Amino acid sequence: MINTVFDILTIRTDFPILNRKVNGYPLVYLDNAATSQTPQQVIDVIVDYYRNYNANIHRGVHALSQEATDKYEEARLKIQKHFNAAKSHEIIFTSGTTQGINLVANSFSTFLKPGDELLVSAMEHHSNIVPWQMLCERTGAILKVIPMNEDGVLLMDTFKDLLSNRTKLVFCNHVSNALGTINPIQEIIEESHTIGAAVLIDGAQAAPHIKADMQKLDVDFYTVSAHKMCGPTGVGILYGKEEWLNKMPPYQGGGEMIAEVTFEKTTYADLPHKFEAGTPNICGGIAFGAALDYMNAIGFDSIASYEQELLQYATQKLTMIEGLRIYGTAKEKTSVISFNIQGIHPYDIGTILDKLGIAVRTGHHCAQPVMDFYHIPGTVRASFNFYNTKEEVDVLVEGVRRAKKMLL
Ligand SMILES: *Cc1c(COP(=O)(O)O)cnc(C)c1O
Repeated sequence: MINTVFDILTIRTDFPILNRKVNGYPLVYLDNAATSQTPQQVIDVIVDYYRNYNANIHRGVHALSQEATDKYEEARLKIQKHFNAAKSHEIIFTSGTTQGINLVANSFSTFLKPGDELLVSAMEHHSNIVPWQMLCERTGAILKVIPMNEDGVLLMDTFKDLLSNRTKLVFCNHVSNALGTINPIQEIIEESHTIGAAVLIDGAQAAPHIKADMQKLDVDFYTVSAHKMCGPTGVGILYGKEEWLNKMPPYQGGGEMIAEVTFEKTTYADLPHKFEAGTPNICGGIAFGAALDYMNAIGFDSIASYEQELLQYATQKLTMIEGLRIYGTAKEKTSVISFNIQGIHPYDIGTILDKLGIAVRTGHHCAQPVMDFYHIPGTVRASFNFYNTKEEVDVLVEGVRRAKKMLL
């Protein structure tokens, strides 16, 4: 396994995809905020599942089904431990952050009446906006926005003014995928709780960089996608406090989530199964556990400090390019840099970078309100993970300079 010292070359050998070429150039993968790459250790777990014990869980008496069930439940325990949830049944497997949010947005509607208020931050991903708008349409609740400033920092005084005894739920991302801002979620949770509002934190962008502690945060709901933290796509978790999950009705009906079904009345299974209708992504859940093992073996403190080094290095180098503006200049940031060059469309820069083997994201990053705030159509976003290097930052900077020369 990996040394305790941060050995970037050894780490990179764990990721076979980093060796490939794109358009004749070595791949420089800087789209980690959209999805992260998968280490061989996790790929092995996926292959092992399908080769050796693929079976449906919680149902069969046969050996394969037992093995798959044990491994799947073991993964739940790993996830519980990683996020320091008090109970393993507070970890609900989902298909990802989007489903986790939709689950809460659906089931929480039983607690809402017309005129109740929901607070959303100005820097949310669409998946933490649209489900709540749909909820408001169904219930007559009202959505209010916590504004931000030019640096991409939430205005906490306005947030406190917006809180009232009508506020039932507050939702905010832990880290903004468009700007990289790390939001003061501990304060948001504490303030919201003083007036009895529940809080959902979208942890999709934070979880790859910050180890969040559910009990310390005292958060009500927290959502994560495995594919942003070295795991596969199509799997994630919703953490929910037991008392909320017990009070909330199920999200979807089907197999696995019932205790007893008759045509007169159906009773629901206990947590977590009440919220896990149908056959889940079994292999994905097990691989998610393996991804956490992999990242924890490196250590989140080492990961965070190395990524901060990359962030500072890249920020310093990019700001030396004349006409380049970085969006998202909060003091507390993860390794995400959103930028534009005056007079050039972000898409054009992205296209030229791709020709040079450099993968970045261009566009609104599923956060159109953030782009509207800055009056821009989108940005170029370079997002770094612990397996990126300073040499790759240099390649990016050189690529951006070349693009600028070609396009201006
Ligand atoms: C990626 C992301 C999502 C959506 O995650 P899915 O895996 O697509 O469900 C939501 N919020 C933030 C902040 C994200 O970065």
